[in-house]
Amino acid sequence: MNRRYFIKSGATLGAATVLFRLPPVDALAQQAVKGGTKSAGAFKKVVKTNEEWKRILTAEQYHVMREKGTEAPGASPLLKTYAKGTYVCAGCALPLFSSRTKYDSHTGWPSFWSPISKGNVLERPETAEGDTRTEVVCNRCDAHLGHVFDDGPDPTGLRYCMNGVALKFVPAGRRA
Ligand SMILES: [Zn+2]
Repeated sequence: MNRRYFIKSGATLGAATVLFRLPPVDALAQQAVKGGTKSAGAFKKVVKTNEEWKRILTAEQYHVMREKGTEAPGASPLLKTYAKGTYVCAGCALPLFSSRTKYDSHTGWPSFWSPISKGNVLERPETAEGDTRTEVVCNRCDAHLGHVFDDGPDPTGLRYCMNGVALKFVPAGRRA
């Protein structure tokens, strides 16, 4: 049996289930974005010039996050991180993913089946070399994070394939 199609057929049902499971994760996100407003995506955008980003980010982070680069598969130390905590944007510290949705996709990139809140990431279609993919960017600083595919596990069937350098792991109980 083709695993991918099996997962896909269960995705619709799973998406309905996840709606009921998400509130605690959303609450965590809102708590972390203290000072922001309650509605998703209503936080103030972080806008910097390329020169300013170059001063804040490492050369690799700059390449991935501001030039849509891709880190080498297997390179991220976050691949083997499964401790409880939050993955925040390496550029602006916006909470993006929870350890609760992290899984091993065997792709070489840190993978999640859901963002911490739909409003914290922006998904946009990207056409490159005739291929259409969905790019995932930080909704506060517009940093390129990775892509989302529909071959992920239950309950969403989604695979948020992230560049580890674009994320910073904050263990539970600590501040970003
Ligand atoms: Zn950001």
